[in-house]
Amino acid sequence: MSEGSISSSRTCHCGLAPRQFTSKTPANPGRKFRKCANRDKSCGYWKWDDDDFSDGAVIAINQLRLELEAAKGSINVLNMTLDQVKIERDGLKEKVEAWEAMKNFEANKAMKLEEKVLKLKMGIIMLCALIVGFEFAAMTK
Ligand SMILES: [Zn+2]
Repeated sequence: MSEGSISSSRTCHCGLAPRQFTSKTPANPGRKFRKCANRDKSCGYWKWDDDDFSDGAVIAINQLRLELEAAKGSINVLNMTLDQVKIERDGLKEKVEAWEAMKNFEANKAMKLEEKVLKLKMGIIMLCALIVGFEFAAMTK
């Protein structure tokens, strides 16, 4: 096995087409690489897919990847915050509804009380009229 004999990056040292994988390491998240497809007797072939780029380009791409990951993290935090706000809003809505129901109940009670007072007043007025009527009748006798 000599390095020079395989100049093509399309095949590994076994002459097989290398399998593509995606890196999940924090330093290279999402970066594609190729590995020898021979599982039993790997020739040890291993290559980044973007190895053909210049070092500067690779660094820039990695920087962008890291920024993308950070942006994804920020979006997750925002989504979590939004969920929190929604939960708090629902809680507030429930409180307002409960308070409205209480208010309606109290208003209902006050209205019934007013009705009772009105009936009582009417009763008193009728009683007065009755007493006056009796007195009038007694006086005219
Ligand atoms: Zn191989």
